[in-house]
This record gives sequence, structure tokens and C-alpha cells, in this order.
Amino acid sequence: MNKTATHPPKELAAWLQDNLFHAVPMAIAVIDRNFDLIYANRAFEQIFGDWQGRKCHTVYKGQAAMCPQCKGTQAFREGRTLVHEEVGLDKHGGLRRYIKHTVPLITEQGDIPYVIEMCTDITEAEQIRREYQLLFDQVPCSVLIIDKDYRIVKTNAQARRMLGDLEGRHCYRGLKGFDSKCKECTARQTFEDGQLHTGHHIWRTRKDETVHLHVITVPLQVSDGSFDMVMEMAVDVTQTLKLQDGLRFAHSFLETIITTSMDGIFAVDAGGNVSIFNPAARNIFALRPNQQISGDELSGMLPAEFFKQVNTAAGQIYSPETEITNAAGQKVPVRLAGNQLKMDGLSMGTAFSIQNLSELKKLEDDKLEAERLAAVGQTVAGLAHGVKNLTTALEGGMYMLSTGIEKGNLERIQKGMVMLDRNTQRISMFVKAFLSFAKGREIKARLNDPAEIAREVVDMYAARADGLGIRLAFELSRPLAPAAIDYESMHECLTNLVGNAIDACRVSTNSAPHVTVRAFEEDEAIFYEVIDNGCGMDYEVKRKVFTTFFTTKGLGGTGLGLLMTKKIIQEHGGRIDLESEPEKGTTFRIRLPRKRLPKVSERPKQEESSS
Ligand code: ADP
Ligand code: MG
Repeated sequence: MNKTATHPPKELAAWLQDNLFHAVPMAIAVIDRNFDLIYANRAFEQIFGDWQGRKCHTVYKGQAAMCPQCKGTQAFREGRTLVHEEVGLDKHGGLRRYIKHTVPLITEQGDIPYVIEMCTDITEAEQIRREYQLLFDQVPCSVLIIDKDYRIVKTNAQARRMLGDLEGRHCYRGLKGFDSKCKECTARQTFEDGQLHTGHHIWRTRKDETVHLHVITVPLQVSDGSFDMVMEMAVDVTQTLKLQDGLRFAHSFLETIITTSMDGIFAVDAGGNVSIFNPAARNIFALRPNQQISGDELSGMLPAEFFKQVNTAAGQIYSPETEITNAAGQKVPVRLAGNQLKMDGLSMGTAFSIQNLSELKKLEDDKLEAERLAAVGQTVAGLAHGVKNLTTALEGGMYMLSTGIEKGNLERIQKGMVMLDRNTQRISMFVKAFLSFAKGREIKARLNDPAEIAREVVDMYAARADGLGIRLAFELSRPLAPAAIDYESMHECLTNLVGNAIDACRVSTNSAPHVTVRAFEEDEAIFYEVIDNGCGMDYEVKRKVFTTFFTTKGLGGTGLGLLMTKKIIQEHGGRIDLESEPEKGTTFRIRLPRKRLPKVSERPKQEESSS
């Protein structure tokens, strides 16, 4: 007892005597040497219930026997206050955790007749403490508590799993393997200003691997606001950094591909802004360096129909050959592809790729020109061969004649004359054909109605076919747009084909011979077909028809018609094919893609006709 304590005034002392015992928030009970409860306060009753005439162990623990380590016994024996934590049962049978002070009551004679037991219920506090511990250990980050000497005083389970047992070690040594404090230290910053600090740290794990962490340091405040420890919470960002690196790599990879692509690549985002525009695109659209372009300007340069389709249709829109008008107002032949960019069904804009076809076109034109020249060359070579054959035949006739005269052999003279005559006829026929061929008339394309040419050829042959009992028809399902064609040359081609078809009908046994000429357009190409049900051709003939001087018509043919025809078709950028079966008939098909037709001849009409 404190001897210097002043005594309360009398009335207060009396009140305290009557009330204090019951007013304190501790459960207090008095136990005698038989461990009978002889007195208890209101708080005790509220927790443990009825106590009168009961032994302490039945009240606290609900058990008949004494507790194995009875603190009451110890206090009676040792005469000193004991403090310990205990678990008991409340009046409802619920577990209670409490701190119990067991205080011996010592009389002036030194006897101890009673002990007073005071219990402070910590059930809830303990619950909270456990929850906090759980939280501390289970938060998905490493938590370290560091004191002012930079010693780690406490770690959570996650930190121990990652970093090992660091408690008691200096943080710089345990986390980084340094011998002295780090230069950049979030803990020091927090110690200095009491504020939250963040930083990026590289720590070593217990397996001696390197981990990247995002660290947040906060002061660990005690109730009066002062602190001498900080708490560090560290989130492992190694994976995130790796992903970021991967993303950065993928991005720069794509960027390199886009900027170095030979094809133009550009994209318009959902807001209509141009988000990608690579150097190749800049080139095709003829933009000055650093010249900006808006989404509207860009769409204005693309073919309107194409742009509309890309924005409305699903999937890729492809335009193999079209034209754009660049910023310099020039028309550029291009190949275009466009796609909507979608993510999770949402449109993110549109992406395009564009290929400049100017060079390709030039190459194609050059190739066409080379093909034309080759056709002429081949034909001329073939003609020379034909002429040689004829001269050989003439020489034969001359020999016959001269030896006949020499020997006075009339029969020989006559034979020689016939040979000379026959071959002179052939020569004159050849020379005519040769001239028309070798004149090498340059193609003079003008805009003509392709159907009109065919109709004229059919009209021209109408009377002849009629006289031979051959039905000759012209079919045109739809009018054709004008095309750059050399009228006379194409007329000659069709004349050859129809003439051959009529010849084939004449030598066939077919009772209802007919020849049909068709003109139509498909996939931007003009087609002519000449169909007959005449004698047809076998494999050998089919193989040779386009070669020089091949004819099955003896003196009646030159074998130049189809050769001429092929040359002219090639000069128009087209091709000629045939299907034929002996005794069934033949179809010759001419295909003239509009894009490959010759340029319209610029020369005035007079000059052309005078050449
Ligand atoms: P030519 O008519 O002077 O014989 P062409 O070059 O026009 O020369 O024809 C070559 C050969 O091809 C003909 O002699 C004939 O054998 C064959 N030919 C051409 N057109 C037809 C056809 N419509 N039907 C059957 N054979 C044909
Ligand atoms: Mg012919």
C-alpha cells in the first residue's frame, strides 16, 4: 500500500466502498482457502454467471476437479501477485480469453485468508490481434518492419517465403548484400519526414535470384504520433517488368516493320485521326516531310467506294488495281487493302496497306512491247523460210524446164512449165499476203465499238454463207463500251476466223452447218468467239495451226491467216485460244483485257491514212 496516498473525503470513501467494487469493468472475485467463491462483482457475474456457493474451478472452467496448475494455490503459498493468461468458459459455455491477476490478501498478522482474482477479458482483443496477424502474413506483398538502425525487426510470411529469415539483420545487408546503407533509401526518407515514400528496388531472394520490387514505406505510428520504426511493403514487379519489356520489344519490332515496309501502311483511329502513316505511304501520297494529314483529307484521296466498303463490311476489302489522287494532284495506280481494326467486337479504326503499281505498270508495258516485237520477229523469220521453200520449188521447175529444152524432151518441158506456173501463182498469193503482213502496219488504236467490228465481218460473209447453205449468226447479249482497238486489224482477224470456219463447214459432212460469232464482256475483258460445227481438228493440226505456212487447204490456203490473227491479238495485249474436236467443230476465243489494250493513238487521222 502506498503510505503517502491521501485519503478521500469521508462521503466519497463511503461511496467508493459501496460502489467502486461493482463499477470497475474487470471481473473481480474473492476466493477463500477452500477455493470457494465468497464474493464477486457485477462484471464477474455478467461474464461467468452464478457464483454463490460454488468453487472457482467449476465457475471458471466448468470442471469438478482443481486445475492442474492452480494459480490460487501458488498465490496462497508464495504470497505474491501472479499475472497470467488463461482460457475459461463464460456462462453460455463460450470460450473466454483473459488476463488474470491473482492477488493474495495478506493480513497484518501475515496470514493469507483470501486471494482476489481480477480478470481482464481479452477475447476480442485477441481476436483482432489474430486477424491482424493473418492479414499481415497473407497480404499479397512482402511486409518488413525496420527500426531506426535499419534493422529488420519483423517480416510477414510472404517476405519470409521470398527473402528468407531476415529478422535481426540490417536491411541493406539482408536485402541487397551491401555493407553499408543504400544511397537511395525510402526508409530513410520516411524516417526523415514521416511521410509515405515509394521507390523501385532490386533485392536478392533467399535463392539468390534478383527480384524487382515496387516499395512503399510508411511510418509505423504509435498512439502519441511519434514513431521509431517504418513499415515497408514491397510488391514483386519482376513479371510485370518482363511483360513490359516484351511489349516494348513487340512494339518496336512492329514499328520497324511498318517504317521500313516497301508498301504504304496507314491507319485511322476510331476518332477519325490518322494514327499510323509510314514513309512509304508518305511517298505514294506525295506528302512533304512533316506534312500532317487529317483522316478526312486521307479518305478524300482514296477511291470513295473502297473507303465506304472498308468502313462497313466485315473482313478485308481488297482492290487489286485502282487509282488514288495524291497530294500533288497526280493519279497513281495502286493496289489497296483495308481492314477494320476490332478488339472485343469494338471498332478501333481502320488499317490500310497500299502498293504503288507505277513501276509494275511500266514493266508490264515494256513486257507487252517486247511480246509484240517478238511476234513480228517470229513471223518474219517464218516468212523467210516460206520464201526459201518457194524458191526451191521454182528452181525445181526451172531445172525441169532447162533440162527438157536441153534434151528436147517435151514432156519434161511441160512438167517444168506446170511447176513454174503453179509456184508462180503461189508466189503471187504469198507476196500479197506477205505484203499485207510485212507492211508491219503499226497498231493504230482508236476508241471503237468492239461489237460493231464483229457485226461488220458477219455482214460481209452473209451472202457467201447463205450461198453455201451455212447458217451464220451474230450474238451480242449486251452493248459493249468503246475500247482502244485498231479497227482494220481486228476486222482482219475476225475475217480470217470466220473464213476458216466457213471453210471447215464446207469440207464437213454435217447436214446443218453453222457458224456463230459472239461478242461479250467478262471481268473487264472483251471476248470474241467464232464457233463452227465444221470438220474440226485433230491433235496434230491443233498443234500446228499457229505456225508459219501451215495449211490443210493445199493451193487454196496460205497458212498465214491464223499467224496474222495471233500477231494482231498479241499487239492488242490479248490472247487467242482454241477448242476443237474432229467432226464436231471448233471454237476460237479471243480475250482482250481492257487494261492491256494499247493506248489510243494520238496521231491525226490524215497522217494515219497517208502512212
Ligand atoms: P489457211 O486458212 O490459209 O489454211 P490459216 O492459218 O487460217 O491458214 O489456218 C491454218 C489451218 O488451220 C487451216 O489450214 C486448217 O487446217 C486449220 N483451221 C483453221 N481454222 C479451222 C477451223 N475453224 N476448223 C478446222 N480447221 C481449221
Ligand atoms: Mg485461213
